[in-house]
Amino acid sequence: MGYKNVCLNCKRVENLGTDRDNFRTGKCPECSSEMIFVNHKFRPPKKSDKKGWELAEFLISHGFVFQRVRNKEGADISYPQTMSEAKKFVEEFDFRAIKN
Ligand SMILES: [Zn+2]
Repeated sequence: MGYKNVCLNCKRVENLGTDRDNFRTGKCPECSSEMIFVNHKFRPPKKSDKKGWELAEFLISHGFVFQRVRNKEGADISYPQTMSEAKKFVEEFDFRAIKN
């Protein structure tokens, strides 16, 4: 378990461990795309799991890098498991999205 860098292009996951001082982001060694830093809660789908990656890519590109998400009342919200749930989720919790 640990934080991860993900390349959505190659579906490549780099484990960063849990040492916050040694986190780095950077470019993917395979395709040179900028890798995305994601929370340890992210469970990478298998490379062959297209739907799983589609879902992960959708969430990550909307600013949900598997950080903790709480609703307006402060209750923890679990991440969606399907694309239709994910579409509602990103709209409803847009105020929690991490935007660069
Ligand atoms: Zn890559």
